[in-house]
Amino acid sequence: MLDVAVVGAGVVGASIAWRLSQAGARVRVIERSRPAAGTSGATFAWVNASAKSPRDYFELNLAGLREYQRLVEELGGAPWYHPGGNLVWVAEDELPAMQRRVEELCAWGYWAEWRTAREVQRDLEPGLRFPDPATQFVFYPEEAWIDVPLLVSTLLELARSAGAEVIEDDPVVAIETASGQVRGLCLESGASLTVDAVVNAAGPWADQVAALLCLPLPLAPSAGLVVRVAVSGEPIHRVLHTPVVNVRPEGPGHVVLHHRDADAQIGDRRAVEAGDPLCWMLLERARQVLDGIEGAEVVGAAVGVRPIPADGRSCIGAVPAVGGYYEAVTHSGVTLGPLIGRLLAQEILTGEVESIAAPFRPDRFPRG
Ligand SMILES: Cc1cc2nc3c(=O)[nH]c(=O)nc-3n(C[C@H](O)[C@H](O)[C@H](O)COP(=O)(O)OP(=O)(O)OC[C@H]3O[C@@H](n4cnc5c(N)ncnc54)[C@H](O)[C@@H]3O)c2cc1C
Repeated sequence: MLDVAVVGAGVVGASIAWRLSQAGARVRVIERSRPAAGTSGATFAWVNASAKSPRDYFELNLAGLREYQRLVEELGGAPWYHPGGNLVWVAEDELPAMQRRVEELCAWGYWAEWRTAREVQRDLEPGLRFPDPATQFVFYPEEAWIDVPLLVSTLLELARSAGAEVIEDDPVVAIETASGQVRGLCLESGASLTVDAVVNAAGPWADQVAALLCLPLPLAPSAGLVVRVAVSGEPIHRVLHTPVVNVRPEGPGHVVLHHRDADAQIGDRRAVEAGDPLCWMLLERARQVLDGIEGAEVVGAAVGVRPIPADGRSCIGAVPAVGGYYEAVTHSGVTLGPLIGRLLAQEILTGEVESIAAPFRPDRFPRG
């Protein structure tokens, strides 16, 4: 039985751990903190391919989106999966670019529809506020959002029932090799594990884990702020992007806010309090676009760091320089997590690399 250690219990590591255990590998997940404590606990969690280019990265994300639909069917119930689509409010000066993009997406087989604000309000989101009923929206019906902490705990539970062990609060501090092949791991607690393979799914810390093998993994991380707001009822039912704020539901009673303008002001901060002016800025902007949230209150804020390989593209697969060492590091990890889980488990267990993942191999970076 192949013995695999998965470093990191975010959405990517949990997905890999489950697929490996399901296929009969002996799996240990090593998490330095607790599951979903990294970027997976501080994300907008929108499953999409509409915002992805070039074509091969779009196709990967489309496969990620479809993988969710299969996973929901496979599990026969998915309280963490929230379909309903995504609405994008198109600012007037962005209309020509958006027209070109929608044409391109439709030519690529993606489902995208134009709607006016009046239609959106009538058919989809009665609580939206518009300056002009002719404002244009693009609707992507297949997109969704995910309750990521719940998905991670579900996948880890499935992995456990298939025999996996999850070790929390114990960082990996060394990876041992012999004759160019992974042999084991050392944890901060002093524990050492003998393994046949290691998967680096350490998110924005993946470069530090790669450095344990003296392998450079160039990342270009960027920080983002997500703000949780308590609201009464359900002011919004699906993911919404507007020029001033992005909003999605988080069950009845809460919405999550995000916008690149807030991200641009985070700088080096890795924690933000609920009373921070950036949270208030996002809440004020949400009040401009949503009815019924006058009494809304910020109840939480989190800064996440996007694990972005330096060329902006996913890094998935074996690193030939060290036998038994694999990487699974990516932005858009919510969209891609379950897909990467299946693809990487297949590669580890059979050596087979599906063509969709071929452009995203880790060995495109010089590895020392
Ligand atoms: C503001 C923001 C918005 C985003 N919005 C979206 C979105 O809408 N859609 C989308 O698809 N993606 C989105 N992303 C990106 C997505 O959230 C991430 O790509 C994804 O969460 C990464 O998951 P992961 O499992 O790779 O990493 P993480 O969730 O960070 O997990 C890595 C884990 O590794 C652990 N770890 C690190 N070092 C060690 C060690 N030495 N030993 C043991 N454990 C270790 C960490 O504690 C952590 O739990 C967003 C990101 C941000 C920041």
